[in-house]
Amino acid sequence: MTSPRPDLAELELNELEIALQDRDCERFHARQLYRWIYRHGVTEFDRMTDLSRALRARLESEFSVTTPKVVTDEVSADGTRKFLLELGDRRRIEAVFIPDTPATAPRYTLCISTQVGCAMACGFCLTGKMGLVRHLTAGEIAGQVRVLAAATGLLDQPFNIVLMGMGEPLHNYDNTMKALRMLRSEHGLAVSPRRVTLSTVGIVPGLERLAREPLMPNLAISLHATTEEQRNALVPPNRKYPLAAILDACRRFPLKKRNRLTFEYVLLEGVNDTPEDARRLVKLLSGIRAKVNLIPLNPAPGIPFERPSDARVDRFAQILADHHLTVSVRKSRGQDIRAACGQLIVEGGVRKTAAQQLAVLMR
Ligand code: SAH
Repeated sequence: MTSPRPDLAELELNELEIALQDRDCERFHARQLYRWIYRHGVTEFDRMTDLSRALRARLESEFSVTTPKVVTDEVSADGTRKFLLELGDRRRIEAVFIPDTPATAPRYTLCISTQVGCAMACGFCLTGKMGLVRHLTAGEIAGQVRVLAAATGLLDQPFNIVLMGMGEPLHNYDNTMKALRMLRSEHGLAVSPRRVTLSTVGIVPGLERLAREPLMPNLAISLHATTEEQRNALVPPNRKYPLAAILDACRRFPLKKRNRLTFEYVLLEGVNDTPEDARRLVKLLSGIRAKVNLIPLNPAPGIPFERPSDARVDRFAQILADHHLTVSVRKSRGQDIRAACGQLIVEGGVRKTAAQQLAVLMR
């Protein structure tokens, strides 16, 4: 009987140590393996030259290392690169490299997916139209970072990660947090949780779990509406986890000194972008250490909303600023290659509609 070879890409450092020990190998090889796989982007045992030939042969017969394959890599006029990646079961996901060139030092961000598709079915999001195909494994989530960092020359440079690709990270809680632990290892990419932002529609039990994590990423809440009724219509999970409960959880969230919660707010012309909406938003966020990130809609075929004019966006932002809220307007990056927020979708593999999937979640 041969059992399938364990996939090293799915193991945290301590799990890898145990796996080696169980096979009468030295534990310290785990650190070497992590260094090769994460820091050097090398997954063929044969190229791991600080391991003895005998050990390499042994590893080859006992373990595998699965890495998402790059199918296409499109570069936008603004330098954003969208990667279409294929997983072991041929399912496809997208992940995005976003360079930024502020006056000081260059900054790089990797935008990573946590699911194939998404069950949340937000009315303005293309991924939401796909429905959920499946959760990503921890190895597939961390694997996107390995692949993009290697492809964009970031293996030995600091970068940020935003969990803002396809999927709802708190709907795939365990795998997402495990991936962050794998990425954090000082023997691998050493990505500090301070450099990671998890964006969520606000699944309240997930927020409560997150509040108890020893190592917490930064948190961004996708609010998008200022009344329960309006949010029910735009963000269907609101029927189960209403605005009031989410904001309550936010008020209790144990923020570190000088840290703030980010509230994302997609601006839809004539729907949620009026001065009254802005004033209600100010009220809702009072008492929360908050900053607001406004995201003018990235339009797409099949999305029944319009992007407001810059003047409307500015007017909305000004009202928040007048009430001492820190506000930023998200630049939309990579729109020409459909890499912008809410534009990630992979055709095919859709089995149920997003609404059907959501019904399962809401039961
Ligand atoms: N499921 C997570 C991550 C989603 S993507 C979440 O909901 O937060 C990150 C952000 O992009 C979310 O705030 C999402 O609502 C927003 N977004 C989705 N579709 C968009 C679109 N068409 N235009 C602009 N932003 C969009």
